[in-house]
Amino acid sequence: MNIHEYQAKAILSRFGVAVPAGIVIDDAQKAQDAARELQEKTGTNSWVVKAQIHAGGRGKGGGVKLARNLDEVKTKAENILGMQLVTPQTGAAGKKVHKVLIQQDIYYPGASEIRELYVSVLLNRATGRNIIMYSTEGGMDIEAVAEKTPHLIYKEEIDPSVGIQPFQARKIAFNLGLEGKAFKEMTRFVTALYKAYIESDASLFEINPLLKTSDDLIFAADAKVNLDDNALFRHLDYAELRDVNEEDPSETEASEFNLNFIKLNGNVGCMVNGAGLAMATMDIIKLSGGEPANFLDVGGTANAQTVEAGFRIILKDPSVKAILINIFGGIVRCDRVAQGVVDAYKSIGTVHVPVIVRLQGTNAVEAKNLIDQSGLKVFSAVSLQDAADLVRKSV
Ligand code: ADP
Ligand code: MG
Repeated sequence: MNIHEYQAKAILSRFGVAVPAGIVIDDAQKAQDAARELQEKTGTNSWVVKAQIHAGGRGKGGGVKLARNLDEVKTKAENILGMQLVTPQTGAAGKKVHKVLIQQDIYYPGASEIRELYVSVLLNRATGRNIIMYSTEGGMDIEAVAEKTPHLIYKEEIDPSVGIQPFQARKIAFNLGLEGKAFKEMTRFVTALYKAYIESDASLFEINPLLKTSDDLIFAADAKVNLDDNALFRHLDYAELRDVNEEDPSETEASEFNLNFIKLNGNVGCMVNGAGLAMATMDIIKLSGGEPANFLDVGGTANAQTVEAGFRIILKDPSVKAILINIFGGIVRCDRVAQGVVDAYKSIGTVHVPVIVRLQGTNAVEAKNLIDQSGLKVFSAVSLQDAADLVRKSV
């Protein structure tokens, strides 16, 4: 699960990671009050107004603006709230901004000695261990650094049985070129960051930029956090961090039915049971010249209801030109799935795209009979190749 910057910073600050003071608002009328409150708290005379969307690159897209006085805070908040923000990570359609974060400006205008660093904690799946990745070259172009000068990105692997060790925190601060007070601040920062990552069951905590101020303080100027969905049951307080505005509506609907659904940009809708079979089905769709419109794993306990829900969700996508249903009946019985397809078809009324069904395994014969006798315009296929050929003819 992705969360917003302001939510990520609330988690960080609970673990003692230094973040700039900030207040999130959803109405530009509240911008100046928020800025005044931050002024009283921190003494700041300038602020940044930051769009809260689930995508990075906001600075480049015009979603992060400096405001030097209270009037500017208001106009910048007015401009950003409600805008359709396009960044290198949102795709051409962009994302609508529903909230902005008014934040203390931690770049202290006029200060000369400011450095933008990079630090993240993430899982290295190849070794099964968490690593801390860091670089002196933080800021808005870290992707280019990773691509062109990968030797400027350091990695520190953490032993899960003992966690981050003091010598590792010192090594990181040293490699980042810090000294004196900033060095000490950094060791504290990275230790707290690692703790926040572990205790939140996260899969990513990325701080870019990590800021060293002119008076040697270390701050998380930005924060991107990814929480592991499978561990959310251990963090009931994190459930409210979910923002359905940021999700594709079809994915939100699918999650209500416990369907594993990911929207993609192709033209062939797929309904499959089991993630492995779903991947193989998407491969064969591509091999036969189509493009999957979605990933959909209806799971091992698929029944007529879930199948109908999946069917409806796929049909809402106007780019879908054909639907391929590929079910292996192991625990789930094929005739149940077939019944789901028939029911869905009938209750939806007219289905304008060809539906190709391949049901194999438990009760496959009964399933085929059910579909054949339903009088519906459904093509049944026996082998996966047959199914793919039918798909090719349809799109
Ligand atoms: P994104 O990564 O989505 O572009 P960031 O939070 O990194 O968003 O903000 C973009 C840039 O804005 C940063 O690289 C930094 O230069 C500046 N910035 C962000 N937060 C602050 C802040 N609190 N004070 C001053 N400058 C900031
Ligand atoms: Mg950033």
